[in-house]
Parts: sequence; C-alpha cells; structure tokens
Amino acid sequence: MSAAAGDGDSSDWLRRARCLRSLRASVPARVSVRRRQRRWLAAAAGGGDGAAGDLEEAAAMGNMPSALKHCLSYQHLLKEQLWIGEAAPQPTALQHPGQELLTSGFPEFVKIVEVGPRDGLQNEKAIVPTDVKIEFINRLSKTGLPVIEVTSFVSSKWVPQMQEATADKAKKVLLKAENMTDPAPDFAATMQTSESIFVILADAMMADHTEVMRGIECYPGVRYPVLTPNLQGFHSAIAAGATEVSVFGAASESFSKMNINCSINESMERFEDVVKSARKMDIPVRGYVSCALGCPYEGNIEPAKVAEVSKRLYSMGCYEISLGDTIGVGTPGSMKRMLESVMMELPVAAIAVHCHDTYGQALANILTAMQMGVHVVDSAAAGLGGCPYAKGATGNVATEDVLYMLNGLGINTGVNLFKVMEAGHFICTALNKQTNSKVAQASFSS
Ligand SMILES: [Zn+2]
Repeated sequence: MSAAAGDGDSSDWLRRARCLRSLRASVPARVSVRRRQRRWLAAAAGGGDGAAGDLEEAAAMGNMPSALKHCLSYQHLLKEQLWIGEAAPQPTALQHPGQELLTSGFPEFVKIVEVGPRDGLQNEKAIVPTDVKIEFINRLSKTGLPVIEVTSFVSSKWVPQMQEATADKAKKVLLKAENMTDPAPDFAATMQTSESIFVILADAMMADHTEVMRGIECYPGVRYPVLTPNLQGFHSAIAAGATEVSVFGAASESFSKMNINCSINESMERFEDVVKSARKMDIPVRGYVSCALGCPYEGNIEPAKVAEVSKRLYSMGCYEISLGDTIGVGTPGSMKRMLESVMMELPVAAIAVHCHDTYGQALANILTAMQMGVHVVDSAAAGLGGCPYAKGATGNVATEDVLYMLNGLGINTGVNLFKVMEAGHFICTALNKQTNSKVAQASFSS
C-alpha cells in the first residue's frame, strides 16, 4: 500500500518536471502564458466580453492560483446557471423556463437593506478606522444595493473627542472588572460590567459617524439611513447630512433596559420626538423591533408583544418596521407565529425581517417570511456582527447568502452578488477575520 502511494508520488513529480521543462523550452510560450494570465485576471475582475471564455481557457490549461479557480467556477456557474447571475431589471428576465413554479407564493422583487456598516461593524470586536468604513460603504454602493445603513448617532454626548473619551471610560470599567477579587464573583455584576463595556465601546465604534457620513460617496438611487436613538442624535445626524433615519426599539423590557437604558414605554416617547421632527423635515424613519423571536434575559417573547410595539412604531409614523431576531434563536415556526400576529396590526408591505444566524436558521426564517409576503430583508455583507448579550451569537445573516438563495429562486433584487462578495472580502481583510458567508467561503477559500 505504501509502495503504491510512493509510485503515485513519483509519477506526479515526473509529470510536473515534464510540464516545467516544456514551459522552459519556449520563451514565446512563456510570454503567451503571461498574456493569458493577464486576461484571466482581467476576466476574474469582471472585465468585458468573453470573460467566461477566457476563464474556461484558463481552466483547460489548469495550473492557476486557487482564488482565480474559484472566480472561474463562479463565472462558469454564471454562464451555465443563469439564476446565479446579477439580477435583471425585469423580474423574470433571468428565470429558466418553468421557474415560475419555484417563485409562486414569493414576492417578485425583494429589497435588501444592508446593515453591515452599522449593525455589523458596531458589534465587531475590532475598531475599524474611519477611512476603511468609508471605503467599505463606497464598495457596497457599487453593488446595486438600494439601502445601506451607514452608522449610528448613538451617543448623547456627541463631541469630536468622544472616541478617546469613551475609550478612556471603557478602560476604567475594565480596570474595575480586573480588580474584582472575589473568588466567587457575582455573575450578574460581571455581566453588567461586560455589557457596560460593550455599550461604551459601541459608542466609540460609531464616534466617527459625522466623518463617515461626510466621507462616503452617495450614489443616486441608494439610500443611506443612520440610527438615531433620540432627538439629539437625530439633529446631529441631520447636521451631518443624513436624509433618512432609524429608531431602535425592543419587544423585550429587559433588553430595552440593557441596550438603550430605558423601558419600552420611555423609548417610544423618545422615538415619538424623533419621528415628529423627522416628519416636519420630510425625513423617512424606519423602526426596529429587536428580540422579536427571543430575548437573552426573558427567553420567548410573546408575538402579541412584538405586534404591540410594531404597531406603536408604525402608528407614530415609521414607514417600515424591521423585526429583528437579534440573538438568532428563531425558527420558521416561531417566525410564522410572530408574523401572523404582527400582520394583524400592520400591512405586510411595511414589514421587514432582520435575522441573525446563531442557530443556522436565518435563511429558513427569511424564506418563511417571504412565503408570507414579506419583501424587505435586512442582511450584512460577510455576515458581520453579533450580539454582545448572547454568548456564541453569530452575526447577521450574510448578504451574499441571501442573494444566492434569492437568485436561485429567480427573485429579483437588483444586487450583484459577486460585487458584494468583493466588498465582504475587503472588510474581512481589514478586520482580519474570516467571512461568515457560506457563499463567500465556498467561492474564495482554497
Ligand atoms: Zn442585526
């Protein structure tokens, strides 16, 4: 058995040696190979007519870098499987004959709301430099995404030095935590401390909100909402050039207190101030309801409670309500029950779903929501984010994975999957982390 393996190895080396000799034999051949490699690289970068043909030629020759091979397989799939490609302006233009069956009961168009730059980066451990955030948003803007949530005007203490100030405050809390010498520390106190650190760091993460707002290139047809938890944040956002805002509520009393430091009722009063001011200025407001399918403190959340909070946000003037499975514990069953309850109070056109993939249910939950008529889906490139309150909670559902599924169903989004994969790759490189997108992993990893 070992001899056979040895034979295999030696014949492999012989093949490689022959291949190398034949390449060395001819300088013109080497030049030709380099030319071809340049063409393959241009093709992999998305360049021009015949790109797929060039990549097929590259495949036939073998011997390519693995990243290029995967671009090749993507381009090859693009040619063979029309449903993987960029969504067409007309909803049915890229569908195979007979694919209507697949999409019956689903919306023809789904609006993707990209939350990576705000929800995603805010919940990542690394603090991302402002210019990297701007570049990430600019790359996302070129993908065809209709909405990109840019940043958050979270702090009521908005001053230019806030980033350093909040970092100092975080250090003090950390020192306090380190000085806890009790051999059996109070778990609740420890949790409270770590959550305080998170809130402070979240402030620090988004302290460059004005620079980000002013630094990005705003593309025509793309909307760039920002999170504004209170009136002060709203005015700061407008001063920075925001033309759309969001407010972030919760269906769980405990989560509301932990996350935004007030009861649900108090938060609604604050949001009413924001919405009133926004309406006077013709600024659209989006509402979030977090913990719609579960809470790290209260466990199950009654669908009726989600419906009540959603109705309140909608009635005060939020044009769209995003129902968030913040800790990713929902299933198609709980999603269905929750949506049935919310749909008794709100028109389906005003409902969006916001799923995290902690238990691997996000795509199934989105599919369930779409079957019920929901046509707005939140997601984050590379599946950025997480939840500091739920141990092991993974990030938002990856935009790449949602697009792959929707393209497979023949549902139009207007978003270019490959370009989102590139933007996701860019931000993961900056964060020095692996993408959470299964589609990106399959396409780019060796
Ligand atoms: Zn999220």
